[in-house]
Amino acid sequence: MTNEEKFEITDSEWEVMRVVWTRTKATSKEIINVLQDKKDWKPATTKTFIGRLVKKGALNTETVGNKFIYTAAVTEEESLKSLKAGLFNHICNTAVGKTIADLIKEATLSHDDIAMIEEILKSKKKDAVDVIVCNCVPGQCHCKENHNMNCH
Ligand SMILES: [Zn+2]
Ligand SMILES: [Zn+2]
Repeated sequence: MTNEEKFEITDSEWEVMRVVWTRTKATSKEIINVLQDKKDWKPATTKTFIGRLVKKGALNTETVGNKFIYTAAVTEEESLKSLKAGLFNHICNTAVGKTIADLIKEATLSHDDIAMIEEILKSKKKDAVDVIVCNCVPGQCHCKENHNMNCH
C-alpha cells in the first residue's frame, strides 16, 4: 500500500480530522461540540464519522477512565499532500495547468501569497516544457480520440 492510497478522507471526515489536528487530543464530546456549532451535525452523525476514521486507521483511540481520547494517526501535512496528489490523479495531465489557474482565480490571496506564487512561477519558467503529454487510459479523456493534444 502506498501512502496515497492508505485511506481516502471524505469531506465530512476532514471536518473531524481538523478538530483533532488542532487539539492534538480530543474526546468525542469536544469534536461533537465544534461540529455542532459549525455544521449543525447531531452527535450521532459526528460519532459515525469518528467511527469511520478509526476503522480507516486515520484516528487512534485510547481510553482514559471511561472516556475515549482520539489522536490523529496521520499528520495534517501528510493528508494535505495526498489530497493534492489525489486531485491531480483525477484529471488529465493536459488539464493540470488550467485547474491550478482556476484554483488561483477562485482563492482569496494576500500580497504575500501572490509574491510567493510569483516566485514559484518564475522558477517554473526555467523548466517549462512545450507540450504536456497526456498519459491517460483511452476512454478516460478525449485527447487521443481526435489526435489532438489539447484536451479541454
Ligand atoms: Zn490525459
Ligand atoms: Zn486528456
